[in-house]
Amino acid sequence: MNNSPAFSGEATILVVDDTPANLSLMSSLLKDTYRVKVANSGERALEIVQSDTPPDLILLDIMMPGMDGYEVCRRLKAQAATKDIPIIFITAMAEVENESMGFALGAVDYISKPFNKAVVKARIRVHMQLKRQSRLLENLVFLDALTEIPNRRALDQTFAQEWARSLRSGSPLSYILIDIDLFKQFNDHYGHGSGDECLARVAKALHGCVQRPGDCLGRYGGEEFAAILANTDMDQALQVAQNFHTCVAALQIPHAHSSVAALVTISIGVATTHPVADQDLQMLSETADRMLYVAKNTGKNTTQYQRL
Ligand code: GH3
Ligand code: MG
Ligand code: MG
Repeated sequence: MNNSPAFSGEATILVVDDTPANLSLMSSLLKDTYRVKVANSGERALEIVQSDTPPDLILLDIMMPGMDGYEVCRRLKAQAATKDIPIIFITAMAEVENESMGFALGAVDYISKPFNKAVVKARIRVHMQLKRQSRLLENLVFLDALTEIPNRRALDQTFAQEWARSLRSGSPLSYILIDIDLFKQFNDHYGHGSGDECLARVAKALHGCVQRPGDCLGRYGGEEFAAILANTDMDQALQVAQNFHTCVAALQIPHAHSSVAALVTISIGVATTHPVADQDLQMLSETADRMLYVAKNTGKNTTQYQRL
C-alpha cells in the first residue's frame, strides 16, 4: 500500500533536461500548480528519484550527455520502488521510432518540442489524475469494507514481506490471531446489524493498539483478526495481546448471552519465531491458530501462546 502524502497536498514533478533554458521554461510553466524539482543530467535525476521524497511524475529529456533519458527510464522501471512513477518523455526527436521506443520502455506519454504550453499542462493534469485514481484503487483493494482496516490480502502480503525481512535481519516475528467470543450468540440476540457495528468498533479498537512501523493489524475474516508484529519477541507480543484484551473491554459492549462475561470479549493465540531459511511461514500462522483454539477451549477471554 502506498501512503505517499503527495496527493494530500501539492504533487511534485521532476524535470530532467541538460539545457538550463529548458529547465527554467518548464519550471515557470508548472510552478504555480506543482512543486517542481529539476535535474540537469540523468545521473542527478536518479539521485533525486531514489531519495526519501521521490516525485509523483517525471518529465524526461531523451538526448543528454552521459546517461540519456532512455537509460534513466530503463533503470527506474527496473526497481520496485520507482517503477510506478509516471514518465513523460519530452524531446526534439519527433520521429515515430523514438516515440514507440519511449512507450516500449514504459513511458506514459510523449511530448515533442517545440510544445504548446496549454497542451503540456493538460496532459500532465491527466496523468496526475490517473495516478491518484490508481492509488485510490490500490488502497481499496487492501481495505476491508465493513471495518475499514486492512483485509486478508493486506495481511498475507505484509506477512510475506515481514517474514523475508526477519529472515534477513535475524529479528523475531510474532503472529497474533484474535477471535470474538460467542459472536454467533451476539448476532442471534442483538441482530446482524448490531453485529456489524460491534465488529467495526472492535476492529477500530484493536487497530489503535498497533502503531509501530512494520506492524499490521487486519480483518482475517468473519469475526477474526490478525496482527503481524515485526521485530517483536514473545514477551512484547504478549503485552500487545494484553492491550487487545484491555482495549476491547474498555469498549464495554454488552453481551447478555455470553457465558464468559457480561461484555464482548476476545480470545487470542500468539506465536513467535526467529525465521530460518527452510522454515515455512505458514507454520507461524498455524501455530497462532492452534493457540487460539486452545484459548477457546480453556474458557475463552484469554491468551495462549507458543514459541517456535
Ligand atoms: P467462539 O467463541 O467459539 O468463537 O464462538 P463464535 O460464536 O464467535 O464462533 P462461530 O464461528 O460459531 O460464529 C461466528 C459468527 O460470526 C457467525 C457469523 O454469523 C458471525 N459473523 C462473521 N462475519 C460476520 C459479519 O461480517 N457480520 C456479522 N454481523 N456477523 C458475522
Ligand atoms: Mg468467535
Ligand atoms: Mg471465528
